[in-house]
Amino acid sequence: MPTRRFLIRRGALAITSVAALSLASSRSAEADTMISKQVAAYQDQPNDGKRCSACCMFVPGDPSHCTMISGVISAHGWCKFWEAGPNDTCS
Ligand code: SF4
Repeated sequence: MPTRRFLIRRGALAITSVAALSLASSRSAEADTMISKQVAAYQDQPNDGKRCSACCMFVPGDPSHCTMISGVISAHGWCKFWEAGPNDTCS
């Protein structure tokens, strides 16, 4: 059975894919498979105590990244796809 996260990602990717069809072919493969900060409602501050550093999609580093959201993120940030768990352990 598909997980909630899988279904959310598939839905967001479907929307992104429709938009991507109208863009030039020079976009990178990574950009086509990641969700934008805007779509994810990403912010650089925690939300109700929830922060990227406690999310299973967080990839710590300098700079830090996310397995779902494109670009550099803050350990203190948050987005609507937040899911509790050790770093980089979501399947
Ligand atoms: S999915 Fe998790 S780690 Fe990625 S931006 Fe959202 S809250 Fe941060």
